[in-house]
Amino acid sequence: MSTESALSIKLKLNNGIEAPAIALGTYNPKELHPKVKDAVKAAVKGGYRHIDTAWVYDTETYIGEALAELFAEGVVKREDLFITTKVWPTHWNDPAKSIDESLKRLGIDYLDLVLQHWPLTFKVDADGKPLLKDGKYVADDGDYLVTWKKLIELQKKDSKKIRSIGVSNYTVPYLERLLKETDVVPVVNQVELHPSLPQVELVKFSKEHGIITEAYSPLGSSGAPLLKLPIVKTLAKKYDVSPAEVLINYHSQSGRFAAPRSVNAERLAKGLKSVPLTADELKSLDQEGIDHPKRYINPSFARSVGYEHWNEELVH
Ligand code: NDP
Repeated sequence: MSTESALSIKLKLNNGIEAPAIALGTYNPKELHPKVKDAVKAAVKGGYRHIDTAWVYDTETYIGEALAELFAEGVVKREDLFITTKVWPTHWNDPAKSIDESLKRLGIDYLDLVLQHWPLTFKVDADGKPLLKDGKYVADDGDYLVTWKKLIELQKKDSKKIRSIGVSNYTVPYLERLLKETDVVPVVNQVELHPSLPQVELVKFSKEHGIITEAYSPLGSSGAPLLKLPIVKTLAKKYDVSPAEVLINYHSQSGRFAAPRSVNAERLAKGLKSVPLTADELKSLDQEGIDHPKRYINPSFARSVGYEHWNEELVH
């Protein structure tokens, strides 16, 4: 039986800043957006101190409303929280605009971490809005590394406004190019990662270069299909915790971040137990995905980053 909270585990970024390993994920299907405010409030009251959002999620305003109330009620101060947002590829050439919009929606004056959302560039229309063709983003002919270079400049110019910078959805060849052509190592690379997609090579490469890997979709995304994996159920029974706690501790016990998402306020308010998974158990969880790999988040534009299409019907 575990009584410790996994939410108090912190990791040190390569710039010396400490951050809680477990973030509350805030991507949600549109119909759930109004629930995000209460979810954030419940999560913070339940001990979550790290929030993961993005310009493109359209949930920053709800998070901002929750933060305003949490600050007013004296539950936490801004400096008690670690807040991450991301720059969508339509802002590839002007990440400052994206960051300013995110800050305004969130109602805060600095970000703990800004991630380049994808190593891609998308076109905008005449009004500066994402250009869509048949409902799909249109690739621009710019270089995705421009965004990273601009983030470096912005962070150097005002490190109080942007405390750390990182990337997302970078594979090993993309990280190799970034490390060769720029002189700032991302603090984090946020990618899909769970026992059905353990990303062993990417995790190893990142660790060797001081980059913390952050797991998105740690439960397998909408509907949390990974809760049903037999190995996860067996470990949950052994430690008398929930399958979700096993899936999340798989990362925090391995020196990684994880951003599980939920709008279930009742569950979030209960916090999250720490599960002392052994080295052999962590290896067995990796082995599950080495033997039966499955990716849940695989939008069509991911093809150009070299992603395999294992599960096209479940994309967002
Ligand atoms: P997750 O893998 O976190 O799964 C979310 C689903 O799990 C929801 O349906 C949720 O339902 C359910 N769930 C959560 N906790 C439990 C529990 N204890 N028991 C049963 N069901 C549970 O999904 P996401 O794909 O959203 O990934 C998480 C976060 O990662 C995103 O919200 C976002 O912040 C980030 N992300 C980043 C991406 C990137 O490109 N950088 C891409 C995708 C995600 P309920 O709400 O009812 O609890």
